[in-house]
Amino acid sequence: MNMIIMGPPGSGKGTQASRIAEVYGVPAVSTGDMLREAISNGTQRGLEAKAFMDKGELVPDQVVIDIVKERLAEADAQQGFLLDGFPRSAVQAESLGETLAGAGKKIDLVINVAVPDDEIIRRLSRRRVCPKCNAVYHLDHQPPKVAGMCDKCGADVVQRNDDNETTIAHRLEVYRQNSEPLIEYYRNMGLLVEVPGTKTIDEVFGEIRAHIEGKL
Ligand code: AMP
Repeated sequence: MNMIIMGPPGSGKGTQASRIAEVYGVPAVSTGDMLREAISNGTQRGLEAKAFMDKGELVPDQVVIDIVKERLAEADAQQGFLLDGFPRSAVQAESLGETLAGAGKKIDLVINVAVPDDEIIRRLSRRRVCPKCNAVYHLDHQPPKVAGMCDKCGADVVQRNDDNETTIAHRLEVYRQNSEPLIEYYRNMGLLVEVPGTKTIDEVFGEIRAHIEGKL
């Protein structure tokens, strides 16, 4: 099954994406993770993307579209995939539709995780991430077992450059303007299901699971 998980920054979609990937055996394709990896590898793409990301702006469509095209052409994405953080603009959504149609494929399900703004700001300012394995923590609700250390790989957890209050506010604005309209776009295509992201991680996953099972 080919899926997309959408939602504002901090909605917990990355956490849910890892779970879905594990349970359903599809790769979670996160453009944010791929861009951060390009930055830490010092590639041309990473250099190009960094300035936009630090400001909370969208990286130019073509850069992200190319990354996703390459990733979806890999062997492990042929039996299904889950896109996390892509598409984030109408241009990206249309390009994705065309690329998939060209390969005789389509999107089967779009999951929208909804969370109100005040909750997002609270979550993101207390979020910590592992730069090595991309695990996500929250200082209050889901802290690492040993303070400052990733449970999964032992690396030092850090605060993302773009998880500061000014940038968070801007990312939310960018989300409202560019990405939120995609909810309607996929609803009109009959592909959208919505889950409230304010419940516990297990409850949200339970709801997502029911939607996926309904499509299998
Ligand atoms: P995320 O990890 O999904 O919150 O993404 C972090 C940042 O990466 C965003 O604020 C953007 O600057 C950039 N980014 C990730 N995905 C996209 C996308 N599909 N289009 C444009 N920029 C993106």
